[in-house]
Amino acid sequence: MATRDDILVELGLTPTWRRREAVAAPLARLVADVAPQVLREPRPATSPPPAQDAETRSARIASLSWDDFAADVDACTACGLCRTRNKAVPGVGDTNAGWLFVGEAPGAEEDARGEPFVGQAGRLLDNMLAALGMARGRNVYIANVLKCRPPNNRAPEPSESGACRPYLERQVELLRPKLIVALGKSAASLLLDTDATIASLRGRVHQYRGVPLVVTYHPAYLLRNLPDKAKAWEDMLLARRTVATSVGKMTSIPPPVA
Ligand code: URA
Repeated sequence: MATRDDILVELGLTPTWRRREAVAAPLARLVADVAPQVLREPRPATSPPPAQDAETRSARIASLSWDDFAADVDACTACGLCRTRNKAVPGVGDTNAGWLFVGEAPGAEEDARGEPFVGQAGRLLDNMLAALGMARGRNVYIANVLKCRPPNNRAPEPSESGACRPYLERQVELLRPKLIVALGKSAASLLLDTDATIASLRGRVHQYRGVPLVVTYHPAYLLRNLPDKAKAWEDMLLARRTVATSVGKMTSIPPPVA
């Protein structure tokens, strides 16, 4: 006579139990795979810190040394971008550089690597430096207005630029460069406090807190607008002439105008 087990086998209903490990291992793998993605899901943006906190924070950033700078940026939670970034991008280069290049914000590759201008736009910037006989890290420091990537590479919000501004100000103070090159509208607008177009700002030497500043097109814009590369090259030559005729690094940078 058929036993209960024989009948279950016949119906394809065995085994009727599983060892715990057989279930637990795939489940653990699933959790390990999915949990980091869930944790990286964008969370709602935080509101900016209250005014008093912002002042205290600015004062703290204004006293950072190069040694503390990157760690401070990495730990920053002053705006909602900290919730969507993978890596903060403090800046890179020679901390005694005469040249400071300022871009807009990290893109996807910069966010993954924690270094500014390492994507396609960065390769163009490197080529422009090479054409001037220069290289990143040799008398050159590269920073951005924002130290964290805005989602989908959207333009910085004023609240984000405002929250990040103390970091760029501190970089200028620590570096005391002979020249700043503002790459594109975000950098030019923030540093010169203007809404003017790049076309109207380029071709002459401005000042940022006593440091000569040249405005040019952003490399990402140049990749889409090749004819303007010639104008950007003229801007680089103006920058080089400005550095060549400068008296040297400033001993101090006047405080920002309130
Ligand atoms: N564009 C920027 O403005 N900065 C980067 O670091 C990369 C692309």
